Amino acid sequence: MKKHNFNAGPSILSQYAIEETAKGVLDLNNSGLSILEISHRSKEFTAINDEASSLLRELLDVPQGYSILFLQGGASMQFCMVPYNLLNKKASYLDTGTWASKAIKEAKLFGEVVVVASSKDSNYNFIPKDYKIPADSDYFHITTNNTIFGTELKKDLDVSVPLVADASSDIMSRPMDVSKYALIYGGSQKNIGPSGTTFVIVRDDILGKVERPIPSMLKYSTHIAEQSLYNTPSCVALYSAMLNMRWLKNEGGVKAAYKRNIEKAELLYNEIERNKLFKSTIPNEEDRSIMNVVFIMNDDYKDKEEEFLKFAQGQGIVGIKGHRSVGGFRASIYNAMPLSSVQVLVNAMKDFEAKL
Ligand SMILES: *Cc1c(COP(=O)(O)O)cnc(C)c1O
Repeated sequence: MKKHNFNAGPSILSQYAIEETAKGVLDLNNSGLSILEISHRSKEFTAINDEASSLLRELLDVPQGYSILFLQGGASMQFCMVPYNLLNKKASYLDTGTWASKAIKEAKLFGEVVVVASSKDSNYNFIPKDYKIPADSDYFHITTNNTIFGTELKKDLDVSVPLVADASSDIMSRPMDVSKYALIYGGSQKNIGPSGTTFVIVRDDILGKVERPIPSMLKYSTHIAEQSLYNTPSCVALYSAMLNMRWLKNEGGVKAAYKRNIEKAELLYNEIERNKLFKSTIPNEEDRSIMNVVFIMNDDYKDKEEEFLKFAQGQGIVGIKGHRSVGGFRASIYNAMPLSSVQVLVNAMKDFEAKL
């Protein structure tokens, strides 16, 4: 039986991407070759690489003057690649969670880092809004969605320095004004495709300004010049990601996905509010993520956590155990998650309450 997959990443993909990848593993578009064994320089793979990049451009309405890259090393590699390429003297960061703080740690290897605000003292349960960004920052780095804590910065900020975003877990979940960003990056394994490929959207004119030498593999301009084929890419991962983006386009693109995502998130948050067993960990509603819904057991029912996990498992629900730094539960409801699966989770919450 197919499970209701609420995992945070790698995570649920469209059935279309899964089935078409399986076909491509056996025989890629009647080429007589498997996607596992074709050359990344072949015309078949060049077409896949081109389609992936043009789908990303189309789905996010990426303006002229920006390059799209598919790299390896995950979002974690970008934590160092961003400052390597962009930080001359000083960069500013907003500390909204584990991933943000990891990005900060790497940036400190390259220059002065100003943490303009942090919600660490309250276990990252809100997005700080009141802060000043030093005008001489080479860039300002944010994490748009905090996958572990379940908070999300849902609007595109207007700031006076180049804006850099780790959008690993909410990319393509809502329409985004890419023109407000100098660089957007993320691992693909949350909302775009399987693990193994990392997307980067970079405004060309912010590059080439740092004085340090940069190793070729870690230099954005190397990969821009080679359309992400400077070295061997993760062919299968990119193929699946392309297929999944094709699926998203056929489903009406990011705008339509956003509507569905709001509906799914509302269904789940409303049940968390209504159900006496559960509560949200994020007090401010506007900070609540529409991708990763984090909730815990109310104080009187703390001892029922394991029992609920088991009960949910019995309904085919997997991946809702919360991250160890928060506890409780986390339901990741990325683009490919149907409303019907969220309804199954909501029903399990109701049924569990009724049987207590
Ligand atoms: C998952 C995640 C990362 C880490 O991604 P890797 O591809 O595993 O390096 C970084 N930032 C955010 C917001 C994430 O959700």
